[in-house]
Amino acid sequence: MVLAQRLGRRLCPKCKKPYDAPKDVRHVMERYSLEVETFYRPVGCKKFRNTGYSGRIAMHELLVIDDHMREIIATNPTLGVLREAARQSGMITLRYDGLRKVKEGITTVEEVLRSSNEGWAPPKKDEGAKGKGGEAETNS
Ligand SMILES: [Zn+2]
Repeated sequence: MVLAQRLGRRLCPKCKKPYDAPKDVRHVMERYSLEVETFYRPVGCKKFRNTGYSGRIAMHELLVIDDHMREIIATNPTLGVLREAARQSGMITLRYDGLRKVKEGITTVEEVLRSSNEGWAPPKKDEGAKGKGGEAETNS
C-alpha cells in the first residue's frame, strides 16, 4: 500500500561526479544503515540547463497492513503509536526510499532531504498538498 509519493530530481548521469561526501551527508546514510560506496554530486553540463539534474525520480512511502497493524489500528491509536507499529511492520518511509536511491547513485542526499521534508532542512509550513520540489537552487 502506497501512502505517499514525492518527486525529487534525478542526478544527470552524464555529468555527475563522485566526491568525498561531507560528514553530515555520510551521517544521514549511516543513521539509516545504508552503506554507500560512492557519493555523487551534481555538476551541470550543457544539457538540462546546467543544473546537474535531469528529470525526476519518485520516492514512495510504503506500508504493508499485516495482522499486527490491523490489531493496532483497531485500538484507535495515537499517531505516535501508529508510526511505531508501522516501523515494526517494515514500513518504508519516503526518506528511506529516497536514500536507497542515493546509494544507487541516482540522486543526492540533499535532494532527498529537501523532497522528503523532515528534519535537517528548515521545516516548511505548507507541507502536504504540493508535491513539487523547489527548482531554483543551483549552488550547494
Ligand atoms: Zn549533465
